[in-house]
Amino acid sequence: MNKPFHQGILIIERLEENGHEAYFVGGSVRDTLMNRVIGDIDIATSATPEEIQALFPKTIDVGAEHGTIIVVTSDQESYEVTTFRTDGTYTDNRHPDNVTFVKSLEEDLKRRDFTMNAIAMTKNGKILDPFHGESDIKRRVIRTVGKATERFKEDALRMLRAVRFSSQLSFSVEADTFLGIQKDRALLEMVSVERKTMEMEKLLKGQGVKNALELLVTTGLYAFLPHFGEKGNRLRDLAKLPVYELKSRSALWTLLVIVLEMDDAKGFLNSWKLPKKVSKSVQENLNVINQYKEKGWAKEIIYRSGLEQSLEAHQVMRVLGWDKLGSSIQIQKIYNSLPIHSLKDIVIDGHDLIKIAGEKRGKWIAMLYQDLEMALVHEELQNERAALKEWVCNWLQKYDQNY
Ligand code: ATP
Ligand code: MG
Repeated sequence: MNKPFHQGILIIERLEENGHEAYFVGGSVRDTLMNRVIGDIDIATSATPEEIQALFPKTIDVGAEHGTIIVVTSDQESYEVTTFRTDGTYTDNRHPDNVTFVKSLEEDLKRRDFTMNAIAMTKNGKILDPFHGESDIKRRVIRTVGKATERFKEDALRMLRAVRFSSQLSFSVEADTFLGIQKDRALLEMVSVERKTMEMEKLLKGQGVKNALELLVTTGLYAFLPHFGEKGNRLRDLAKLPVYELKSRSALWTLLVIVLEMDDAKGFLNSWKLPKKVSKSVQENLNVINQYKEKGWAKEIIYRSGLEQSLEAHQVMRVLGWDKLGSSIQIQKIYNSLPIHSLKDIVIDGHDLIKIAGEKRGKWIAMLYQDLEMALVHEELQNERAALKEWVCNWLQKYDQNY
C-alpha cells in the first residue's frame, strides 16, 4: 500500500481496537486503484464524532454535526474521519436537511456521488465495492450511485463534479448519468457559487479539460454557471488550449476573462466570488497583457508590475499562443538588468527632495517620482546622488514653468 496510508492504518487500528469499524474511502481508494498520486485520505467509521474525539490526542471539530472530525497525527498530518451516515433530502439542492448516522458501511457508500468514489478499502488493502466502482474505473466511466436524476435532485453540484472528474481522470460520463445532467442541468443554479468555483478550478486544471469543456457545452450545464450563458462557442475555443499548464488561480481566471471575452472583468470575477487578492491579480495580468500588446516586453512594464506578475501574464499569453517569442528567461533577464526595482532603491528620498526644492510636501512629489523612476529605468541617468540632484533641479525648473 502507498506510503501515505501508513498513518491512516494506525488510525484505523485504534478505532478497530476499540470495537469500531473503519475503512479508507473516497478519492484515495479510487486513486490507489488507478495508480494515481493520492490527495487527501478520508476514513469512514462506525464510531460517533464523540467517540473519535475521545480516542485521539489531537482532533479538530470541522463539522461534528455532519459526522466529520479531523484527526491530526504526531507528524502533523490531517486525516478526515467521518461517521457512517446517510444524507437526508436536499430540499434546497444545496445541503442535506439533516444527516443520519448509520450502522453499516454499505449505507454510507450508497450516499456517495459516483461508483468510483463509493469504494472502501480495509487497512490490509481489501476492497469492498458494492456498487461495482472498480469495474467502472477499469472502463473509465463516471456513473452515479443509483439513479442519476434522483442523485442530482438531492445535490445538483454532483453534475458539475461529474464533469470535473472527467477532466481530472480523462474518464467519460456514462450514458444515463449524461442524460441526467442534460435533464436536471437547471438545478445547478441553486448551488452556492463557492462550491461551483471550487469544482470549476479543478476542472480547468485537469488533463482532460478539452473533453470536459465539450461536455459542459453538450450537456448544456455551462449555461447555469455565472456569466457563461452566452459563451458556448467561446468555451469551445477555450477547449483548444492547454489550460492545465496554468498553475495559479489568477492565471486561470485571466485566461477565462480573455477567451470568454468578458468586457466587465471585475463583475465577472465577482460573480464567481473570487477572493479580492485573486481578482486584483487577474486585473493586473490583464493590464500587463494590454501593455505587452502595445510595446512587447518593455522595461517599464516589468518594472511596474514586478517579476512575478510579468511571468504570470507571460504564462497566460503562452497558453493563448500570443507570446511565442518571449521566454520567461528573457523576462527574468530584463528584470535583473533594471537599475532599480522599486522606489526604495533610489538613493535620494522625499526629505532630500524637499531640501532641494525648499518647498512643502505636495502633489509634485508623486509626479516627480513617476518621471524619475522612468528616467532611471530607461538609464537616462545614474542612480547616484549628484546626478539625481541635478536631474531634480532641472525637473523642478520645468515644473515651475508649467504650473
Ligand atoms: P479529490 O481527489 O479531488 O479530493 P475526492 O473523490 O476525494 O477527490 P472530495 O470532494 O474530496 O472528492 O470528496 C470525498 C468523497 O466524498 C468523494 O470521493 C465522495 O465519495 C464523497 N462526496 C463528496 N462530495 C459529494 C457530493 N456532493 N455528493 C455525494 N458524495 C460526495
Ligand atoms: Mg478528497
